[in-house]
Amino acid sequence: MKLKSSNGRRLALRINSNTVREIRRHARAHLKTEVCGVLIGSEAEGVTSIEACIAGANATQGGAHVTFTQDTWEHIYKIKDRDFPDERIVGWYHSHPGFGVFLSDHDTFIHKNFFSSEQQIAWVYDPHSDEEGCFGWRDGRIERLPQFAVVDGRGGEVAEATGRPEPRIAGGDNPNDMGEERSHERSTDDTDLTQLSRTVSAVFSHLAIFLLGALLVWYLFPRVMLMPVDPQTGRPLTDSQPMKPGNNSEQSSGAGPKTEDRTTAHPQQPKSGEIKKNDVHQ
Ligand SMILES: [Zn+2]
Repeated sequence: MKLKSSNGRRLALRINSNTVREIRRHARAHLKTEVCGVLIGSEAEGVTSIEACIAGANATQGGAHVTFTQDTWEHIYKIKDRDFPDERIVGWYHSHPGFGVFLSDHDTFIHKNFFSSEQQIAWVYDPHSDEEGCFGWRDGRIERLPQFAVVDGRGGEVAEATGRPEPRIAGGDNPNDMGEERSHERSTDDTDLTQLSRTVSAVFSHLAIFLLGALLVWYLFPRVMLMPVDPQTGRPLTDSQPMKPGNNSEQSSGAGPKTEDRTTAHPQQPKSGEIKKNDVHQ
């Protein structure tokens, strides 16, 4: 297990996308000077999770680099105790406006003195190039992390509820087995959805063709198909349908002479009820 072995393991990092945006906003508001702050979150089983950040007001710029002064720490702890009493300080961030992502000697000094815990990290962002990177401890040295997972704010909430995180993986190889498994599941879900929509559209197009054919048949051959024929005479039984007994009187009055001819020509017809009615009617 890569995550649990203490020797030579790589630190796994998840960061909330809202926090990434907040750090960017803070740095972009000061394009000529460095800004800094601390990262708030939790550490568990080799995974550092960053949920929020606190901007380091009152941080002074000594030369090119930020410094955490006594005033900086007082400000940070005041906000942390108020807003994040149950979280931990899991690292720090600062900006490199226009000179790239790396840790200077001064940055390394800060990290060793204030963030020496094994799972604490240093986040660096350059607001000019929009590049960002993350550094953490490995075998007693500070290394740049090859990848980290940016977790969507909403996805993170769902993940906490179900115990199945849903991170987007940034970077090459992936020490986060759960994340890899999860993204795999997502892709198969997508495939199922695509197949379902294909099936549905195929069914609908077949249905449309069938309905069109049925309509054509209805308009071209309605009488031929539905006309009943008298088995004895072979003549079509158009007017004397036994299906609508209530309409018989109306029909006979509407098509008067035809019905008369029919009844006189075939007095032995089994449709005696209609004949009687006709007689009564007249
Ligand atoms: Zn720096």
